[in-house]
Amino acid sequence: MADNLSKYRAKRDFKKTSEPSGEAQVKPSNRRRFVIQKHDATRLHYDLRLELDGVFKSWAVTKGPSLDPNDKRLAVEVEDHPLDYGDFEGTIPKGQYGGGTVMLWDRGYWEPEGRKSPEEALKKGDFKFTLQGKRLHGSLVLVRMRNDRDGGKRTNWLLIKHHDDYSVEENGAKILEENATSVASGRSMEQIAEGKGRKPRPFMMANADVEADAVWDSKHGLAADERKKRSRKDIATFTAADLPDLIAPQLCETLARPPAGDDWLHEIKFDGYRIQMRVAQGKVTLKTRKGLDWTAKYPEIADAASELPDCIIDGEICALDDNGAPDFAALQAALSEGKTGNLVYFAFDLLFDGGEDLRSMRLVERKKRLEDFLAAGSDDPRIRYVDHFESGGDAVLRSACKLSLEGIVSKQMDAPYQSGRTDTWAKSRWAEGSIFIKVEAALANHPKPASSRQSGYCHWSGTGSLRLRVLPNVISASR
Ligand code: MN
Repeated sequence: MADNLSKYRAKRDFKKTSEPSGEAQVKPSNRRRFVIQKHDATRLHYDLRLELDGVFKSWAVTKGPSLDPNDKRLAVEVEDHPLDYGDFEGTIPKGQYGGGTVMLWDRGYWEPEGRKSPEEALKKGDFKFTLQGKRLHGSLVLVRMRNDRDGGKRTNWLLIKHHDDYSVEENGAKILEENATSVASGRSMEQIAEGKGRKPRPFMMANADVEADAVWDSKHGLAADERKKRSRKDIATFTAADLPDLIAPQLCETLARPPAGDDWLHEIKFDGYRIQMRVAQGKVTLKTRKGLDWTAKYPEIADAASELPDCIIDGEICALDDNGAPDFAALQAALSEGKTGNLVYFAFDLLFDGGEDLRSMRLVERKKRLEDFLAAGSDDPRIRYVDHFESGGDAVLRSACKLSLEGIVSKQMDAPYQSGRTDTWAKSRWAEGSIFIKVEAALANHPKPASSRQSGYCHWSGTGSLRLRVLPNVISASR
């Protein structure tokens, strides 16, 4: 008994590194506490931390929580964090794990829902709970995604709001924009980054005195220890055999005109080299359609991809001309001169996410997974998500022509990924003599996607005119 207790204490004797005070202690509480920290690291995300069994169970919610029950937010499970971290607001030095600015965005209390204990619900991967925070209230669920448990480096969950008095029908992320300051200090991210303004009021700790310019040393403490343990375990249990070496790519049939019907989506046809990207434990291979290993030809892209979790992605490597349009001659020149630093990998399909084979999933779901996967995994401009139109194939093709693009690829939204030539992917090229439609380039006031990636090409407004989302370095407005 005494031994158990000492282990319990030893485990919870978290090293406090932001402050030398040493006096602060976590306040006992008979209600379970939660905090949400807005964290401007490699990618902006919101860390949801729920107190359970003396630690914070933690998830990095890539786009932040939404109040709209239709939004499913990717929540990447991260290691348990010590309770005193729940009062931290300040900076983590660049170069350290999670380097960047941390804001206390919300905090309060939570309760589990249903008859299962929270430990059982978490184990089962279906965890319902109610928040009583300053900003977030009501019922939510975390659902663990299938087969993610042992396959990849990360365990992915979806955070979903339940319908209740606090849910909304649209604009579920508005709460994030409307609350841009700290719940603990009232400061903006900029003020926190500068170490200026008011100190955060403590919530977790008694006698706490967190300075306005606090710095967290992520190389020490429980989270860092957990991280070390995990990465050793990953190396021991991972087998690259979980990921196929090469999946024969899906190919297009050729049509004179894009297929009609609203069960098709349309992507820009890229004039480059089709390349399958495979990442296993940070080791990247880039293979051609026929399976030739061309990794060495694209060292910068391989390097950029090495930070991604294990995956297989289908895409195309392109060079972009001065106007930002794909240029095949420029690609050949770059390869022959070995000047490959400006080439871009346009990712359009996700075939494996960790050990999970996604090929039987609907295309639109795979693309959503890919978008979230890249948003969470990399912010290197050499790897870009390919956006699509969801209607108006003919109009898309005409505008592609107007932009001097080669053509478009139309894909059936509900189709699985099938190797070889199929009738669920179709390419159509611009034909001489067709009639241009008027293209409205709504450049100035088109809302940027939340992730702000320079990836998509255009957006079909669905109301009769084609609106182009022209993005820096991709396609210039003047064409
Ligand atoms: Mn974080």
